[in-house]
Amino acid sequence: MQKLRIANSKPVVFLTGAGISAESHIPTFRGEEGYWTVGSKHYHPTELATRQAFSELPMDVWAWYLFRRTVCRRAEPNPGHLLLARLEKHLGERFLLVTQNVDGLHLRAGNSLEKTYQVHGNIDFMRCWKECCTDLFPIPLEIGDLERGEALSEEQKAILVCPKCQGLARPHVLWFDECYDEQIFRFHSSLKAAMKCGALISIGSSGSTNLPTQMVTQASARGAVVVDINPEGGPYARMAQAGGGFWLREKAGTGLQKVAEGLGLT
Ligand code: NAD
Repeated sequence: MQKLRIANSKPVVFLTGAGISAESHIPTFRGEEGYWTVGSKHYHPTELATRQAFSELPMDVWAWYLFRRTVCRRAEPNPGHLLLARLEKHLGERFLLVTQNVDGLHLRAGNSLEKTYQVHGNIDFMRCWKECCTDLFPIPLEIGDLERGEALSEEQKAILVCPKCQGLARPHVLWFDECYDEQIFRFHSSLKAAMKCGALISIGSSGSTNLPTQMVTQASARGAVVVDINPEGGPYARMAQAGGGFWLREKAGTGLQKVAEGLGLT
């Protein structure tokens, strides 16, 4: 790859999607493994990951999330995650990571919470469904692991409550029919970072979510170097190439290694 031309003083924003965690064996939303069955009906994740679904079937949606959380807890950070942790140290103040992933693997790999905006939430936390407060609470330890298709026990249901008002708790994720905000999801801070950066590196994202697409569009329009790492083409690859950036048709780990070398990390 041609060496990335990034002014040394400019910030670099890394934007990760489900593709980076595919190498840790966490399914993306695109494959068959994403589907979930409630009764006799099969749901696509984009139908279940909604406020609407939770209001109708709260415990079925919780069961799906707690199964996905189990998959995430059993997964380990892969070389791509570990490289991003090294890049944070290497770039210092110039580094920012904006992730759509809810699996927490970036933090487990060593990226700091301060430099990691989890713009779609974190599956290890819950918050009040009735919004008595905006506090985030760790999912209680007693919940344990849930296997595919397993229903929640009465004991498990009884502890999925907001510790402040004792009402129903919900997973701390951004659902497809909800809007981003600054306080919980760092909406404005992420956009601001995209507007100021010298380079934006997208890794493993299909380009189907709103804030990430705005970030890539803004960075590209302002002349930042946009790089898309994805074995499959998509809107970000097209935007990168149209603006003089790069589409690295690679898996996350190998593509990121090339970017790291381009940024002087050996
Ligand atoms: P997506 O599932 O829509 O697309 C995944 C993308 O990753 C695809 O473009 C695919 O070509 C690419 N990909 C697959 N394997 C890859 C690899 N080894 N290296 C690099 N790229 C690879 O995912 P998305 O666009 O990130 O997001 C949709 C939503 O799904 C997000 O809101 C996210 O929160 C959620 N999600 C999160 C997780 C997670 O936390 N790990 C997993 C699944 C979905």
